[in-house]
Amino acid sequence: MQQLIRALQEVLGPGGVLTGDAARSRSGSWGVMHCDAPAVLRPRSTGEVAAALRLCHAAGQAVVTEGGKTGLVSGARASSSEIALSLERMHAIEQIDARGRTMTVQAGATLQAVHEAAEAEGLIMPLDLGARGTATIGGNIATNAGGNQVIRYGMMREQVLGLEVVLADGTVMSSLNQVLKNNTGYDLKQLFIGSEGTLGVITRAVLRLRPLMPARNSALVATDSLEHLVALLTFIERELGGRMSAFEAMWNTYYRIASRGPHLGQPPIADTYPFYVLIESAGADLEGEAGHFLDALARATELGLVQDAVLAQSEKERAAFWAIRDNIESLAVLWPLAIFDISLPLATMADYLERTGARLEQRLGELRWVTFGHLGDSNLHLAIALGGDDPALRHAVEEIVYAGLAGIGGSVSAEHGIGLEKREFLHCSRSATEIELMKTLKRALDPRNILNPERIFRL
Ligand code: ZN
Repeated sequence: MQQLIRALQEVLGPGGVLTGDAARSRSGSWGVMHCDAPAVLRPRSTGEVAAALRLCHAAGQAVVTEGGKTGLVSGARASSSEIALSLERMHAIEQIDARGRTMTVQAGATLQAVHEAAEAEGLIMPLDLGARGTATIGGNIATNAGGNQVIRYGMMREQVLGLEVVLADGTVMSSLNQVLKNNTGYDLKQLFIGSEGTLGVITRAVLRLRPLMPARNSALVATDSLEHLVALLTFIERELGGRMSAFEAMWNTYYRIASRGPHLGQPPIADTYPFYVLIESAGADLEGEAGHFLDALARATELGLVQDAVLAQSEKERAAFWAIRDNIESLAVLWPLAIFDISLPLATMADYLERTGARLEQRLGELRWVTFGHLGDSNLHLAIALGGDDPALRHAVEEIVYAGLAGIGGSVSAEHGIGLEKREFLHCSRSATEIELMKTLKRALDPRNILNPERIFRL
């Protein structure tokens, strides 16, 4: 491998290859993403990515592409026999076409940088998630990220118009389409979106932008049952006529932990209610929208769907609501823990949680877990305290959570992806025929199996 690393140093120039401690000291969120790779490649252009992959392909060397390393399934964690490829030096916002509502961006740009560039033009790129400051657009695309505005704007897939991808052998596929409708044969970009870096390295993208809606309203609402919470979702969605942009549910177990912290003040609503939800709408009419929002909540209260509610009166109050929803770090009190992002039909949710809770309690003795998530997308996050570092126990907990999903049309990953951590449970959500077709695509695009090998499935 030393000979290959020297060749890569020559191609990528000074600062283009990190080795030794400089490579190993890089870590990701939760500290779980230590990098064991002997080298981290940092190309500055698509040409350099292509040159590096040509060398690795010729040598049969496995390459793991990193985004912002905020993923939760170890998909981008390189082992000591793999070389890491980071696009952190390719972070330019290359072009914004305000009239055509598109942005051309390099893959290493952070989600936040993309947000800020769009907003400066009176536009938004509506994908949003808690790790926005670190997560990169390339990573968001490679994992088809979800987040908290999916209910209105869809997942990352819906925000991508075009892609530039470097294939395993260094071939550059430029498909930087800028138009919304383009039905000319296979939509090749879709192959790479959500493929977790296994089919190609995303280097640039054309993103679809939407108008910035200045009339934003936010409320933190408490309700007394899951049945009422689901009814509230349907009611508010209809009342707001498509302008609801978030419906983020928090079970009492989550709210009690996440509403406290040194950076948070007094919880906006007492922590004694069974369920909470952060509801947002966004529209164009500054005065009218606030009235609509308030009316909808008042009617929901009359119907008994809302027990308590606080409206954000300022951007600061709105940020305080989101700080609770995004306070994932507070779950460290459950450490060591297992985190899940499952999706399942709304109608099955109460029954699934009851059955799964009972089985977990049986296995763990004492059950300490929290539930929250994007209820509008049928996507729940569970965090379960394991009480110790026993791999067998972690596995048993995973089996319990996933086993209950297969029969009800649920998914073992709503938005985080499969990576290494959920590989053995892929079959709970995908048929043998589907998995075999995925392998056929992998073999066709990466015949030497060098790109993020063994992620999603084993060949
Ligand atoms: Zn999420």
